[in-house]
This record gives sequence, C-alpha cells and structure tokens, in this order.
Amino acid sequence: MLFSKLAEYYDSLEKVSSRLKMIEIMAEVFKEAEEREMSAIVYMTQGVLAPAFEGKEFGVAEKMATESIAIATGYTKDEVESDFKKSGDLGKTAESFVAKSKLKRMLSSKPNILEVYEAMKKISESSGKGSKEHKIKLLANLVASSTPLEARYMIRYPLGQLRLGLGDATMLEALSVMENNDRTLKDELERAYNICSDLGFVAATLKSDGLKAIRSLSVSTFKPIRPALAERLPTAEEIIEKMGGKCAVEQKYDGFRCQIHRKGKRIELYSRRLERTTEMFPDIATAALKEVSTDEFIIEGEALAYNEATSEFMPFQETIQRKRKHGIDEKAVNLPLRLMAFDIMFADGKNYMNEPYSKRREKLEELLGKSETLRPSKRIITDSAKDLDDFFNISVENGLEGIVAKDLNAPYIAGARKFSWIKLKRSYQGELSDTLDLVIIGYYLGRGSRTEFGFGGLLCAVYNEKRDMFESISKLGTGFTEEQMQELSDKLSKIAQKSKPARVDAILEPDFWVYPKYVVTVRADEITKSPTHTCGMKVNDDGTKSGYSLRFPRLVGETTIRTDKSPEEATTTKEIIELYSQQKKVRV
Ligand code: AMP
Repeated sequence: MLFSKLAEYYDSLEKVSSRLKMIEIMAEVFKEAEEREMSAIVYMTQGVLAPAFEGKEFGVAEKMATESIAIATGYTKDEVESDFKKSGDLGKTAESFVAKSKLKRMLSSKPNILEVYEAMKKISESSGKGSKEHKIKLLANLVASSTPLEARYMIRYPLGQLRLGLGDATMLEALSVMENNDRTLKDELERAYNICSDLGFVAATLKSDGLKAIRSLSVSTFKPIRPALAERLPTAEEIIEKMGGKCAVEQKYDGFRCQIHRKGKRIELYSRRLERTTEMFPDIATAALKEVSTDEFIIEGEALAYNEATSEFMPFQETIQRKRKHGIDEKAVNLPLRLMAFDIMFADGKNYMNEPYSKRREKLEELLGKSETLRPSKRIITDSAKDLDDFFNISVENGLEGIVAKDLNAPYIAGARKFSWIKLKRSYQGELSDTLDLVIIGYYLGRGSRTEFGFGGLLCAVYNEKRDMFESISKLGTGFTEEQMQELSDKLSKIAQKSKPARVDAILEPDFWVYPKYVVTVRADEITKSPTHTCGMKVNDDGTKSGYSLRFPRLVGETTIRTDKSPEEATTTKEIIELYSQQKKVRV
C-alpha cells in the first residue's frame, strides 16, 4: 500500500465523529493491506515503532522536526517555527510548507508503507555522536519527497502526535471486521493480545495464518503478558461471600509491579505498562539469574524498597526514588529492593496460566526456594471474615497498603479486572479515600489570575470498557501548582482541537478538546449523581437523565501526568458505579 493511501485514511479517521466509523475505516485499511504490511500499519497507527516492551524510541524532538521541514522546503527555521506557534501542530505546519515549497519536490518515487516504516526505523536507530544531524537529514529526505498530506503524518509520527485517538479495543474490533465482516471475533483476538502484548504480531498472524493460529497462540518468554487486575469490595464479609468460601489473602505491597522473564542467561523485567525496566532494578535481575531453581520462567510480583536493619518495607515514595535513572547502583546499596512475588505464568516450557491459583503458587514457592531477594508474598488461607480482617489490620500496621484476596481455583486472567482477585485497601471503608485516575478530554482557558498560563482547568473522564468510550465525570480546577499549570498548558495546547474526539462522550463543552492521551490522579470527597456528566448516564424513572460526578475533586500524585497508565488503564465507569454503591452502604 502506498503511504499516500494510508495518509488519506488517516485524514478521514481524524474527521470522523463516531467510533463505529473509525472501526469501519481501519477495517478497510487492514483489508487492503498485504500480509507483510500488517504489523507496520498497526505500529504506525499507534504512533510507535514497535510494542512498548521493545523500548524503541524515535528520539526526534520538535526542534529537530522544525529543522527537517525547513531543509526540505527551502524556508528558514524561524519561518517554520513562527508558523508552528500559530498552528500548534507541527504536522499541519509541515503540510502547508510542503504545499508552498521553494524546492523541487522529489515526487517520482512514491514511497510505500514499508519504505516509510523502514526509514523511520533508521531515524530511531541513529545514535551517538552526530546522530541529531543525521536524524534531521533523514526526516528532511522523507518530507522532501512527500505530498502535503503525507508530510503531515511524516512529521507527526516520529513526534508521537498522530492525533488519531484509536485505542487497542478499536483496533481489535477493526481486525475482527477485516476477518469476518463483524465484530464477534474481538474476544479471541483480545485473548491473543493479552498474552503477547503485541498488536502488530496479532494482526500479522491473523492475516497470514488465520484464526486457527490466533487460537493456538501461547505465552512465551520476552513477550510480556498483560497484567491481571483486582476488583475491590469494601468489607471482609463481602470479600468472603464473593469468594464463596476458602480463599487466599495476600499482603498488598505498594511498589512497582514487575514481570520477570528469563530464558537461559537472558533476563528482562517489565513494568505494569509492559515497558522494559531491566536496567532500573539490577538487584532483582541479578537475583532472578542466580537465585531461582530453573532457568526458564515468567513470574510476577511487586518490587519495593526494603530496610534490612528493621525488616520493614519502605513506603512508595522511597521506592520511587529508584525510578530515577541516575545513581542506581548507589541506591541499590542504600535501598535494596525485594520482589514480593505473587504469580507464575510459565516455567520450563509449560504454560501455567490456566492452572488454578493454588497450583501456580505451589510452583512459585518451589522455584523461589531460598532466594533472599525474591520472596513469595505473605498470605493466609481462610474462609473467615474475622481472620481476613485481622490479617488486613496487621498488614496495614506494618505499613502495607492492605490485602488482595485470591480465588484458589481461578486461572491467571490476563489483561482484565475480575473478581478472582479482590483488593481491600487501607482506610477504604468510609469516605472516598482511594484516588481515581482520570483521563483528560478537554481544558478551559485561564481567567483571572490564571490568564497568563492559558490554562484554567481540566475536563476529565473515566473509561467505559463496554463502550470503549471516555465518559466525562468532572471538571478539575484545584490542586495545581504554577509549574503544573504551565506543564499542562504546554502539553495540552499541542493536541488541542475544536471538535469533540470520536471516542469522547460529554455534555459540557470545554474551551478546547483533546483526544484521550493523558491520565491524572485525583482525590475527591464523594461520588455524586449529576445531570451534566455522562459517566454511567441512565434515564431515571421521571424521564430525567443522570450520570456520576465528583465532589471537591483535586489533583494529587507524585507527577502531574501518570506516565505509567494509558487512558484505557484509567478508572472505569464500572468502578465508579461500584464505589458509589459502596459509599452509600457505608453511610446507612
Ligand atoms: P491497584 O493498583 O490499587 O489496582 O492494586 C493492584 C496492584 O497491586 C497490582 O497491579 C500490583 O502491582 C499490586 N500488588 C501488590 N501486592 C499484590 C499482591 N499480593 N497480589 C496482586 N497484586 C499486588
């Protein structure tokens, strides 16, 4: 497929206002694509070069792209930059400069998708001395042979700003339509995706080897598994009742989720978002090489700082220090890490995902044996709410976050929040003490003292998994420092748009919309019913409509933007509805 054709599809994707239409367009693209183009199309459309776990980055900054546009079109950097200041979108700027280019365009060689993808890979791979200039030149070459529309995406792609707003679920449905002309295969494709986390690989397999190959796809080392997630309930009684009898109750550690893959001497660690974090936790990687009794496995646990002198786990703030890339070795000495392992998915060529929890746990304990650094999570097995509560209280007293109860018979359910894991967190019972992760869908311009920042507040949403839509839940105007307002203003103005993005559902109209990209952490006093927010919106008996909203929401968190969560990993509509009903129960 020619890149120009893909650019036309992207242009129409940007213009549609319905999710179904998006699926239709993407399915068209997939139908038309050749087998060998499938994975490249998926990565391109996601705005990446490869799945997150490969850690491939373009290393192209806006300043560099500005220079490429200048070189490719015969204008000065200043001219390009001043247009960018007005347009706020370097892709659009590239488009208009190519249209009025002073240089003769090299249009004879119309690039196809794979040629563009390979060229982009070269840009990413250029490193070391002189690489900046090299990248600028390579990108300039691409722009110089582009039509204006192609140039828009040639520039946006390496900047990670495609603005298409397609999520994984939309893409999976489009693949299902490609294969079957309807959306019924989505679950099977999702299963495959959940165990390899590589949508490009799933798409390519489907196109070349069909559904049978998708069905027989199994776990393998160095393809991270999308993590299982926990549901929540407010009391020990409800947890025991839901579990229907005996269950395991594990301590809940507040650190970094870590999936460890090993085969022979190769070892890799992956974060909750499935990014490679091997270098960040050298002590855990070393222990996984030396202290486990087999050399092929996938295990999962929570990494956190440990004070050997007092045998205490450190709070998250201490552990997070380790995320800073500098001084890792020094920190490893001062703050050694422990991995509290809680699951195993693969060992010695055997897939353990479908084995019941109790079997997996047995294997996990067997493999960890005497390791000092990798310990199995502490747990009890009980069917008594009182025992659960006691264990919870002791855990909290010891500075931990709470407990996670686990169904003894359940398989490992990748990529989903199910009641086979149920969490109970510290000071949960009562007001809304758990924070929420909300997706920014729009923002308001500053008024009064905030005029100078061009930022006055956010419009935020939660994710409705069933609809694959982002439903508005709250405005957010409190809790920002001046630096944070500046940061948000800088980031959001780059992706601001005047029309509502296709996967956003809202009644309120912010000054600018943004497509779902950034997640922020918010604390609120209470969840309330609201006629102006679309989160969980239903028609009441009297014919009026109401959704859910937040009372006194404020921004909290270590960082302004949660870089470890994608929009689809934010708090869901279902969770909000559950929290609302739990909050009502506690009041009565
Ligand atoms: P939350 O982030 O509040 O939804 O809680 C789920 C997270 O708790 C998981 O993603 C893990 O990172 C973490 N966690 C800590 N201890 C455990 C445990 N024993 N079992 C499962 N998850 C745990």
